[in-house]
Amino acid sequence: MDFIAQNIIDYAEGYSQAESSVLKELNRETNAKVLQPRMLSGHLQGRVLSMFSKMISPKNILEIGTYTGYSAICLAEGLAANGQLYTIDINEELAEMANSYFKKAGFDTKITHLVGDALEIIPTLDQQWDLVFIDADKANYCNYFDATIDRLNKGGFIIADNVLWSGKVLEKIKSGDKDTAALVEFNDKVHNDNRVENLLLPIRDGLMILRKL
Ligand code: SAH
Ligand code: CA
Repeated sequence: MDFIAQNIIDYAEGYSQAESSVLKELNRETNAKVLQPRMLSGHLQGRVLSMFSKMISPKNILEIGTYTGYSAICLAEGLAANGQLYTIDINEELAEMANSYFKKAGFDTKITHLVGDALEIIPTLDQQWDLVFIDADKANYCNYFDATIDRLNKGGFIIADNVLWSGKVLEKIKSGDKDTAALVEFNDKVHNDNRVENLLLPIRDGLMILRKL
């Protein structure tokens, strides 16, 4: 998942803001109790998301793929005064845990957790977005882009996670590997879409940063 040498990552983490005690606890509890804890953003990527959000100071953030809430808390750290973050996940079993951590982090009035299929929920939201974080099922990345681009403010950002997919996007796609095929399609699509400018950062599993022109 990481393309940067572990000792470099350790050094970078050592010289980045530490995880808050709440995020550390959420990281630990996710690893102890929840399936596929590798999906959690983690210390360095969490600080990247937090810093980006603070640089943007968004009024409305949409997150697609809450999981246990780690990245939502990191992104919420940068919300403008009176800003709101909406986060969607299809897995209702994780909602209670995520919500308990939103409360512990002091964001329970700023984060709204919506349970259901993101492609059904997104059209019901009438906000204009300043920042969208795409991190749910990879097969729908192109659909999530299409579902949010018109409601993204000019100068607003979409960040999509895992666009390098452990490096599989560089290789010949194995038959039946729909996720890799979908991520390759997403990277091609946004790279060639003249409504956005794009930057692929090889941080962790690859972050695609899109800015609406
Ligand atoms: N953003 C989190 C990790 C998200 S993991 C973090 O960085 O900590 C991906 C999540 O997407 C999983 O929790 C999964 O339940 C959710 N997901 C998968 N398909 C979905 C769909 N169609 N709609 C909404 N959420 C979905
Ligand atoms: Ca991810």
